[in-house]
Amino acid sequence: MKTAARTHSFVESVIRGMTRLAMEHDAINLAQGFPNFPAPDVLKEAAVRAIRDDINQYAITWGARRLRHALARKYDEWYGLPVDPEAEVTVCCGATEAMASTMMALIDPGDEVIIFEPFYENYGPDVILCGAQPVFLPMNPGQRLDMDRVAAAFSHRTQAIVVNTPNNPTGLVLSRAECEGIAELCLRHDAIVVTDEIYEHIRYEGEHIPIATLPGMHDHAVTISGASKTFGVTGWRVGTIVAHERLTDAIRKVHDFLTVGAPAPLQEGVAAALESLGPEYYEDLSTAYRARRDLLYSGLIAAGFRCDPPAGAYYILADFSDISDKPDDEFAAWMTAQVGVASVPGSSFYHNPADGRHLVRFAFCKTDDLLGEAAERLLRVRDQLPP
Ligand code: GLN
Repeated sequence: MKTAARTHSFVESVIRGMTRLAMEHDAINLAQGFPNFPAPDVLKEAAVRAIRDDINQYAITWGARRLRHALARKYDEWYGLPVDPEAEVTVCCGATEAMASTMMALIDPGDEVIIFEPFYENYGPDVILCGAQPVFLPMNPGQRLDMDRVAAAFSHRTQAIVVNTPNNPTGLVLSRAECEGIAELCLRHDAIVVTDEIYEHIRYEGEHIPIATLPGMHDHAVTISGASKTFGVTGWRVGTIVAHERLTDAIRKVHDFLTVGAPAPLQEGVAAALESLGPEYYEDLSTAYRARRDLLYSGLIAAGFRCDPPAGAYYILADFSDISDKPDDEFAAWMTAQVGVASVPGSSFYHNPADGRHLVRFAFCKTDDLLGEAAERLLRVRDQLPP
């Protein structure tokens, strides 16, 4: 049976695979990053109301008007970024589709796309599915960007650079100087920065700077985000793209033919949240996540992992080489089955698996009691390891 050659050049999602393994073993799932606590009532009630009011047919393909307008007002309020809700917003089926549609619209076969490494596993396949070449740019977890190395990654073929801040899996929050450095390189090389800002409201240190707000970047930046992480509704699949009209025109065409649109009643739920939740919601979100971060961090340190508390997002990338010599995939599978805690093998965040063999990623988007139980189980990792 024939399949496309491109799909042979990447493996299946390890993150989603670990969720299946966690379910098989009834393990605490700290692998795929989704909350186990309820979403705010305002979203749920507005979505239920929308279904009852028969908002059950296709929304406008690039997003329900109410959501696009609510989002544009928020970008102005949060970042002073002027967004035209009619011409510059596309609502997608999650940030995942947003990234894929963006790349398919803007990247041609033979182009190069720079991806910081370690990276969220979707970016590599997204680039390959465009017939383009990913150029991986190592960043050392816990260290600032080396701007000379970033500059050296650009070539005359560079069409785009993917930036994810706050970062999955490292937790790095880019500084203003780093964002400015990337912007300057994009302008110099006439490249587009595609920013995945899905964790924009989950931060413990630093400032969130959409690169689109920097001088000259309005027509060189595609800003991707969504409701999944901010409102704890990863299963709703509501993602957003903000970009200059010229870029949006191309992106909307791909989005339209790929998915037609995101779920209409759920777009109403997200619009209601954007309209009604004030600054305290977003502050409380980070405060609650900071407590969860501290719980998991101290649990990992007590269990013998080496790691740093992240500055943003909700993951800890942990070095387990003081505990075990196993490769990451074996270690993570063993922990899931024998210890009852699932994580993501570090190699899935690197194009060369050897670079992540000593790492696993834990998500802490969970209630305190579940994180406490996970920390207790992790304390037993050393005792339970086979000799
Ligand atoms: N971004 C989340 C993670 O890294 C969820 C990934 C997904 O499956 N969409 O776990």
